[in-house]
Amino acid sequence: MEERTLVLIKPDGLVKSLTGNIITMLSESKLKIIGAKIVKVSRELAEKHYADLKDSLVKKFGEEKGKLIFENTLDYIQGKFHTDRVLAMVYGGKDAISKIRELAGETNPEKASAVSIRGKYGRIHSETKVFENVIHCSDSTENAEREISLWFKKDEVVE
Ligand code: ADP
Repeated sequence: MEERTLVLIKPDGLVKSLTGNIITMLSESKLKIIGAKIVKVSRELAEKHYADLKDSLVKKFGEEKGKLIFENTLDYIQGKFHTDRVLAMVYGGKDAISKIRELAGETNPEKASAVSIRGKYGRIHSETKVFENVIHCSDSTENAEREISLWFKKDEVVE
């Protein structure tokens, strides 16, 4: 199925100069980059992007720990631990969502395949315990469309 997916190279990916390596790995997908820009992430954008994450973390870890991981995740995507920007991209093509998620690897960088982007370059921060996994990619067509419209204006994506 022809799909679009949002990819973010997170602040740790930028600060570690991993942009080129990550884009090279993503090019294995043979998908097209149809949008790209550097974004300084506001608290509002971070909250909208991770709108469903708080509830799932609270469910998994309980109120206190879940909320703490959520706050740290918002700080992380806003660049409070690294640099205050991300590279936002839209990839398009056949089965774009699953292809990019496969190359990215599992959310937890210690569980991700060693040859995936997160397996190679991610880490769990020793104090905050945030998964610093260098890349975000959409997990469903519904979320992809919601996320693309949050990060990109219509005319910034070249179909
Ligand atoms: P994904 O980024 O693979 O779609 P989620 O949407 O579940 O995964 O999580 C969003 C982000 O929140 C992760 O990429 C990670 O940075 C952070 N995160 C999620 N779950 C945890 C956790 N259990 N511990 C630490 N950080 C987490």
